[in-house]
Amino acid sequence: MNTTKTSFLTQVGPDLYRENPFRVTGLTVDATARDIRRRSEELQVKAKLGAPPGTGSALLPLDPPPDADAAQRAIQRLRDPVRRLEDELFWFWSSRDGDEALAALRDGRVEDAERLWSDPGPGRPAAVAAHNLAVLAHARALDDEAPDPGLWERALRHWRAALDTGAFWDLVAARARTADDPRIGPGAAAELRERLPAALLSISARLAVRESEAGEHAKASAHIDLMRGSGFDGALVETALRDAVAPVASRLRSQSRSALERADATPESGHGEAVRLLERAEPVLAGLGAVLPGDHSLLEGLRDEVADSAMRCVILYGNETGDWHPAEGVLERAEATAVSANVRTRIAENLETVRENQVYAICWFCKENPSHDGAGFQVKMHGEVNEEITAYYARRITWRKLTITVPRCAGCASAHRTRRAKLWAYGLGSNVALFALGLVLTSTDAFGAGVVLMILTFAGFAFAAGFAATTPLSKDASDVLHAFPAIQEKFQAGWSFGHKPPGVQ
Ligand SMILES: [Zn+2]
Repeated sequence: MNTTKTSFLTQVGPDLYRENPFRVTGLTVDATARDIRRRSEELQVKAKLGAPPGTGSALLPLDPPPDADAAQRAIQRLRDPVRRLEDELFWFWSSRDGDEALAALRDGRVEDAERLWSDPGPGRPAAVAAHNLAVLAHARALDDEAPDPGLWERALRHWRAALDTGAFWDLVAARARTADDPRIGPGAAAELRERLPAALLSISARLAVRESEAGEHAKASAHIDLMRGSGFDGALVETALRDAVAPVASRLRSQSRSALERADATPESGHGEAVRLLERAEPVLAGLGAVLPGDHSLLEGLRDEVADSAMRCVILYGNETGDWHPAEGVLERAEATAVSANVRTRIAENLETVRENQVYAICWFCKENPSHDGAGFQVKMHGEVNEEITAYYARRITWRKLTITVPRCAGCASAHRTRRAKLWAYGLGSNVALFALGLVLTSTDAFGAGVVLMILTFAGFAFAAGFAATTPLSKDASDVLHAFPAIQEKFQAGWSFGHKPPGVQ
C-alpha cells in the first residue's frame, strides 16, 4: 500500500494552465533532468542579456508571454517531483509515433488537433487523446476572457472521459514510477485520479464566485449549471461551491461583526455603519444567490447575520440620538435581507415601533414641526356598541370608548384654538344681536314674535356652544384628522367620534 503522504492537487486554481511549467518553459512532459538543466541555463543566459524568455510552449503560446521570474518559478516547480507529476496531468502528452495532432496544434490548427484526437488509433494514442482533448478544451476555456460556453461543456465532458480512461491512468502510474522519488508512492496515480474531480470542480466554483462578485450573475449561474450537468458527483459539486464561497462568507461575517462593534463603541455612527454594511453586503448576497441555491443554509445564515447586525446598529443609533427618522429605511432593507422567521419578526417589530414613534414625533396637522407634549389633539371615540333587551323589556346599550391623542405642534394647537374662539364669538355675537332684536320687538306690536325670537336665541347659544366644542377644526384639518392611522383603524372597526353613541344619556 501507499504509505507516502502526498497532498496532490491542493493548489490548483484558475491559473492552472497559464502557470503550467511545461507551457511556460516550452519543455515537454517527458523532459529529463538534463533537458530541464539545459533549459534553465538558456533562460539564465537570456536573463543576463536582458532578453525575454520567449513565448513558452508553441502548443498554446502564452499571451502575454511569461517574464523571466515566471520562467524561473516554472523551472523550480519542475524540480519538485510531486508538483511535476501534477503539472504533467495538465499538459499535452505525446502518443510518440510522430504525433500529428500535436504538430497541428503547434501550427495553430486547433480544430485539426481536436479532430485527430477525437478519432485516435488504439492503444497509447487513444489513452493520450482522451486526456489531451480535456487539456485543450479546459486550457482554452480558462485562457479566454469570455469563452464560448460550449468550450466549458467540452472541457468538463472530456475530463470525465479522461478520468474513465483506465489506460491513461496506467500511463500516469508508469510516469510516477519513473520519477523514482520517495514522496511519490505506488498509489500516486490512483490518488491523483481520485482527487482530480474535486480539483476541477473547485476551479469552476471559484470562477462562478468570481463572476458573481463582479455582478455577472448569468455567467456565474452558467458555471454552476455546467458543474451540475457535468455528471460529476453532486456532493462534490456542493463541496466545491461551499469551499469557493467560504472566503466571501467569512469576509461578510467579519464586516457584520466589525460594523456592530464600531456602532457599539460609538452609537452615533450606528446609522452610517448599518447603511455601509448593507451597501456592501447586498450585492455580495445577490451574487452568492446566483452560486448557491436560495435555501442553502450557509446563504440563509449569512443573510440573517447581516440583517441582524444592520438592525442592531441602527437601534443603537436611535437610542443614542433619539433620531429614529433614518431607522425606517435601514430596517426595511434589513427585513428584505433576512430569511429566518425569527430574525424577520424581530425586525418587523422594531420597524413597527419606529414607524409609530415617527408618526407621534411630528405634528400630524402641518407634518412639519415636532409634536409638542400637551398640545396633542384629543379625539374621543366609541365603538363595539351592543344593544340588548333586559328582562323588563328595557333597552340596555353598552359600548367601549377611548381617547386618541393626535400629535400636534404648539403652532397648530394655537391656530385651532383661535378658530374655536372665533366660532364662539360669532355664535355669541349673532345670538346677542337676535336677542336684542327680540327684546325690541317685545316693546312693539310684534310682542309675540319677539318672545319667540328670544326663546330661539337660547337654543342658538346652546347650538353655538356645542358647535364650537365639537367642530373646532376647519374642513381641511378635519379631513387630515380623519386620516390619522389610529383613527382610521378605529373607523374601519366600526367606531365613531364621541364618547357615547348618539341619543344615549
Ligand atoms: Zn403643526
